[in-house]
Amino acid sequence: MTPLEFDARHLWHPYTDVADPGPMHLITGAEGVWLTCADGTRMIDAMSSWWCAIHGHRHPAITGAMHDQIDRLPHVMFGGLTHEPAIALGRRLVAMLPRGLDRIFYCDSGSVSVEVALKMAVQYQVAAGRPGRVEFATIRGGYHGDTWKAMSVCDPVNGMHGLFQGALSVQHFLPQPPVVLGAEWPEDPELAGIAPLARLLDEAGDRIAALILEPVVQGAGGMRFYHPEWLRRARALCDAHDILLIFDEIATGFGRTGEMFAMDLAGVVPDILCLGKGLTGGHISFAATVAGDRVATRIGDSPAGVLMHGPTYMGNPLACSAAIASLELLAEGTWRRNVAAIARQMHKELAPAAALPGVADVRVLGAIGVIEMKAPVDPRVAHGRAPGSGVWLRPFGRNIYCMPPYVITSEDLSRVTGAMVALASNPG
Ligand SMILES: *Cc1c(COP(=O)(O)O)cnc(C)c1O
Repeated sequence: MTPLEFDARHLWHPYTDVADPGPMHLITGAEGVWLTCADGTRMIDAMSSWWCAIHGHRHPAITGAMHDQIDRLPHVMFGGLTHEPAIALGRRLVAMLPRGLDRIFYCDSGSVSVEVALKMAVQYQVAAGRPGRVEFATIRGGYHGDTWKAMSVCDPVNGMHGLFQGALSVQHFLPQPPVVLGAEWPEDPELAGIAPLARLLDEAGDRIAALILEPVVQGAGGMRFYHPEWLRRARALCDAHDILLIFDEIATGFGRTGEMFAMDLAGVVPDILCLGKGLTGGHISFAATVAGDRVATRIGDSPAGVLMHGPTYMGNPLACSAAIASLELLAEGTWRRNVAAIARQMHKELAPAAALPGVADVRVLGAIGVIEMKAPVDPRVAHGRAPGSGVWLRPFGRNIYCMPPYVITSEDLSRVTGAMVALASNPG
């Protein structure tokens, strides 16, 4: 069996048909925005390997920090023990996050960080004397990960987990905020789409622990951008009912939207924040759930006395060292100019797609570019064309989208937008 034959016969890939996985490329290396295939073909990773590789692949500052760390302390348990990388990363995160978000729970992946956030919310409500508050509210069109509880707050139709509906705990789904980013905010709460939240909290607030959502940018649930004012109104309503507000910034955090965090577009601080994906610059899986003192100390008063979670690889030093190096790169500040330049160029170069017959909408925010089609796109078509176009794209649902590493050159970005428009004009 060749390596690719073995792969097709034995290895699962994400959301991929085992009987017909479609074209598969054997990647042997990566540097900057480029992926190298076994046959020498190169492709631009326009997906930043799913939002992660924000500084490009194999960044020397990050791999260097990881080399140093692996020679000293690749891992140690975090129960009763701590280490410099965890502390140094904590210092950086506390310094860059809004005041009030400073209690950091390290975990292994984005989905786990969502699980931890949901547990925190329930334990907080129990400790506050409201043990009946075990349900969650969210908005349609969201995506929060693939684990069991995280699945229950994903969009019930488009959130990839519709199949499991009968097996998931039922949550409260609000309509998607109808006012898109950049549109005028209507003062009428019905038109603004905030009235459904007000009604839900009035009717079922005593059963709801928290409202969880992706601020401004809904990623894998539909690549939709909504008005930040919705979040300001939601913050006030949650406060009035002592319902916690959880922001999932796993995709949007660390500069992707043009701000360091998408919540900065709204000026709203949640009670609990989930971080992941770009945290290590795409070099190793890692995530964090960050709460404020109010939540953290209350959980200490709960019957359990502690947050009931503690993954084996919690605070992994190797992952911390990668994250520190990635945050140091962000602290240099060039990302902001780069992301703004990417946004300007994508606005210009994706605009012609709007005139294509199969295209429903074209939108850009920061280093996120989306061509929304009228019909679903088969990702296998894009996979098959990638070696020829030199651009790695993985469309999802009706969206042909990209979120390139911030270091992409203007010439390489033109190849990406060109491949996107070509795919939109002929999706196969
Ligand atoms: C990817 C993602 C997750 C899940 O993260 P994993 O690391 O894949 O478990 C959760 N929420 C959002 C918004 C994401 O984009």
